[in-house]
Amino acid sequence: MPVYKAPTRDTRFVINEVLRLEDYAHLQGFDMATPDMVDTVVDECGKFCSEVIAPLNRIGDSQGCTRNADGSVTTPDGFKQGFAQFQESGWGTLSSPVEYGGQGLPHVLGFTMEEYLCSANQAFAMYPGLTNGAISAIVSKATPELQAKYLPNMVSNKWLGTMNLTEPHCGTDLGLLRTRAVPQADGTYLVTGTKIFISAGDHDLTENIIHLVLAKTPDAPDSSKGISLFIVPKFLVNDDGSLGERNAVSCGAIEHKMGIHGNATCVMNYDGARGWLVGEENKGLAAMFIMMNAARLGVGIQGLGQAEAAYQNAVIYAQERRQGRALTGPAEPNEKADPLFVHPDVRRMLMDAKAFTEGMRAFALWGGLLVELAHKAETEEARQQADDLIGLITPVIKGYGTDKGFETAVNMQQIWGGHGYIAENGMEQFVRDARIAMIYEGANGVQAMDLVGRKLPANMGRSVQAFFALVDGECAAASADAQLAPVAEKLAKANGELKAATMWLMQNAMANPNNAGAGAHHYMHIMGIVSLGLMWLRMAKVSAAALAGGASEKAFYEAKIVTARYFAERFTPDAGALRRKLEAGSATMMKLPVEAFATA
Ligand SMILES: Cc1cc2nc3c(=O)[nH]c(=O)nc-3n(C[C@H](O)[C@H](O)[C@H](O)COP(=O)(O)OP(=O)(O)OC[C@H]3O[C@@H](n4cnc5c(N)ncnc54)[C@H](O)[C@@H]3O)c2cc1C
Repeated sequence: MPVYKAPTRDTRFVINEVLRLEDYAHLQGFDMATPDMVDTVVDECGKFCSEVIAPLNRIGDSQGCTRNADGSVTTPDGFKQGFAQFQESGWGTLSSPVEYGGQGLPHVLGFTMEEYLCSANQAFAMYPGLTNGAISAIVSKATPELQAKYLPNMVSNKWLGTMNLTEPHCGTDLGLLRTRAVPQADGTYLVTGTKIFISAGDHDLTENIIHLVLAKTPDAPDSSKGISLFIVPKFLVNDDGSLGERNAVSCGAIEHKMGIHGNATCVMNYDGARGWLVGEENKGLAAMFIMMNAARLGVGIQGLGQAEAAYQNAVIYAQERRQGRALTGPAEPNEKADPLFVHPDVRRMLMDAKAFTEGMRAFALWGGLLVELAHKAETEEARQQADDLIGLITPVIKGYGTDKGFETAVNMQQIWGGHGYIAENGMEQFVRDARIAMIYEGANGVQAMDLVGRKLPANMGRSVQAFFALVDGECAAASADAQLAPVAEKLAKANGELKAATMWLMQNAMANPNNAGAGAHHYMHIMGIVSLGLMWLRMAKVSAAALAGGASEKAFYEAKIVTARYFAERFTPDAGALRRKLEAGSATMMKLPVEAFATA
């Protein structure tokens, strides 16, 4: 039975010591987030996820969800009670807007909750997970009447939200979607069509479910420019807020899938269901993007969450399991064999996992801070800078975070050897659950293209230039410090590779867009390496200062400095290899005719 203990010390290190949340206390919402308050929220949140939600993870995996004869959906044993506790304690409201009943705390705390919940039980986390994005879309685009009708109950998690984009013939290319919305005389729309793969499409956790659905109106252009967004509630909501009759939306089936069994992935049938337009007709994709950007950050955090949970269990196993002897001679001569920990190749995987998870936690939480600063920073210039940076790194948090999250889960399974392949030990569940995060919310190849095709050229490259300058500036500042110099030097080199790759794309992608497509994955990974490298430089700097100041937790800070060096030695060199792959261009990749791929 796998264990999970929320990494609260590490989270508090990032929030209080690296991001220094208290420095922003003059901004709205940050004033409440004093270090004491952060510590309390982080600790309590960790306790709740470790003690209440994690024990439901194996049950959810083995039982899955059930679609009953009447079409209703039942979640696995314990999910309903766990969710009731989650909802009553207000854990889903941490960073939601105060005007609708949320706590208005900084997103770094909401992101922390997401990470712990995902580590504890990703399938469970996905029920409330999409609601925050749905809330953002309604806050930004819906009329005040719709906001008043839906937001308070969504913010309190009395009702949960879903996101309905995918149809059988279209996932990435939403311009192809066929669901129709026909306007009615009373201003509502009747929505008809089939959506597939809808996470938490139906369940028994809440009395109502608010679906956000993409559909086309009758005269809309037959492309992505003709998509509109609608609120379609499972139960209609009366003007006094009470629930009315059942809407014509139902779960047609639950998918059987590789992982996240505890989450109901539904085929949703809309048979003239009553819907309300969010924003303007034909502007639905822009409205949905507000939801998708929030969800992409959340999915990146899923990658971290699965990696962390798998890592914790691999660390325990590597200490308990004894096989062979250390290459340098028996480490524990009184025993018949040494623990796995003595083997450098096991160490390699554990250090890779440690360097990734701790670096990724800092990266995701920095993203959480930028989300806030993009709205709340004091000056227009500071807001713009934060907005540029979070726009740039969102596909990296999603794509790099989930690629490496999956890789980490696989490596941690490897440490368990054959026992990692056996279901009852739980390591293979981490691998299965982590896999989906690379696919949904825009497959990682699409994230890479978003980065290269949209985020790099935006505003004449302003965001990426600012990113380069930030990294160079922090490297230069650290280069005079003997402890930090080796880390800074290697990071500056990786940043140089990123700049060169950017230049190569600028020179070669216009002439042949396939060059951008062929190198996008590599580019996203170079930026992931530089981003985590920047986080490690910051963490090393804070740790060196803490040690110089006589900090009591010497081992904690020393481990940070060693891991920063490990990241610099073992991750940053990949930036050069990835750049050379990118510069190989698309010519050879695209050369063979399709028939040449046939093997029979
Ligand atoms: C468990 C699960 C839960 C899901 N939850 C939801 C949900 O809640 N709501 C919802 O609307 N959808 C949901 N989805 C759907 C998911 O978002 C889509 O499966 C995903 O976006 C990919 O779409 P597709 O499956 O149609 O693949 P396709 O669009 O057919 O793409 C197949 C592959 O081709 C590649 N590809 C396609 N287009 C491009 C391109 N332009 N550039 C580069 N590569 C490309 C990618 O590698 C991609 O993986 C879920 C799916 C699953 C399996």
